[in-house]
Amino acid sequence: MRKVYVSPVGAVGGEMMTMIARHVSELFGFEVERYTSFPEPDYALDGRRMQYSSTLILQNLAQVCPPDAVRFLVVTGADLFIPMVTFVYGQAQLSGRVAIVSLARMAQEFYGLRANKELMIRRMRKEVAHELGHTFGLVHCRDRSCLMSLSTEIPQIDVKSDDFCRSCWTVLEEELMKLRKERKKNKVVELRR
Ligand SMILES: [Zn+2]
Ligand SMILES: [Zn+2]
Repeated sequence: MRKVYVSPVGAVGGEMMTMIARHVSELFGFEVERYTSFPEPDYALDGRRMQYSSTLILQNLAQVCPPDAVRFLVVTGADLFIPMVTFVYGQAQLSGRVAIVSLARMAQEFYGLRANKELMIRRMRKEVAHELGHTFGLVHCRDRSCLMSLSTEIPQIDVKSDDFCRSCWTVLEEELMKLRKERKKNKVVELRR
């Protein structure tokens, strides 16, 4: 059966990875498996910005994406950027298979505030759902409470609910249904062989 694979890139706590895997499984209804850990993405470091190119990391990981992966989600502690933008919380291939999320700006400590693990996890859940949403064909939503609304600052993540709006769910359900059918089709092909 095709699965969603999750991998850490660099040092990411095992507890965080397990929490993310469970979240993805509950939200999208796929079996989720922890895949190989990848080292710190030194190849993607921009020495001038002291940030990592999320595009380069995505390109790199697309090449090692497990063949039976319905989606491949990687989580990193590295601070990510794309050209023209100060930073990104994550990036995904629109309707592709690979997505990345960064923990770097999810922690209150990043903003000089007192640690709040619960809040960090809430933010992470939303960002993971958002980036995987893109891989399932969803684009940015104007509903500020929807997971697919664009966040360029942390308060915009905090104001979101932990769910997709109705119209995003409609698009998502259709895509998920297609993928489930594909899985069945693949199974039949395998049996015939
Ligand atoms: Zn987005
Ligand atoms: Zn929406």
